[in-house]
Amino acid sequence: MNALIVDDSSTMRKIVSLALGGAGYSTQEAENGRVGLEKTMLGGVDLVLLDINMPEMNGLEYLEAKSKISSIAKVPVVMLTTQDEKELQEKALSLGAKAYLVKPFKKDDLVATLSKVL
Ligand SMILES: [Mg+2]
Repeated sequence: MNALIVDDSSTMRKIVSLALGGAGYSTQEAENGRVGLEKTMLGGVDLVLLDINMPEMNGLEYLEAKSKISSIAKVPVVMLTTQDEKELQEKALSLGAKAYLVKPFKKDDLVATLSKVL
């Protein structure tokens, strides 16, 4: 399984990548939604972990753009963000996100959520 980690924090990308690597995933990284969208469109991405607050294209904009591209619209997305506002959660889920996790996360919760979504 290949997971794409989209987050503007390189530290967070590393933490998530290590957690997923330990659970048997291979990982790719993108530093914002625009790069994430490009990498998703290249194919081979089984699942996306998505931050919200990022420069250039934020997580909600990524979800909206992705939903309009039929070749990638169905790739599952799990939100992973420090922002826990209910409106943001509802917005992300209405734009197609499958789950919403709040940072800091527990590795076991993350892995359990991903296997549920896949
Ligand atoms: Mg961020």
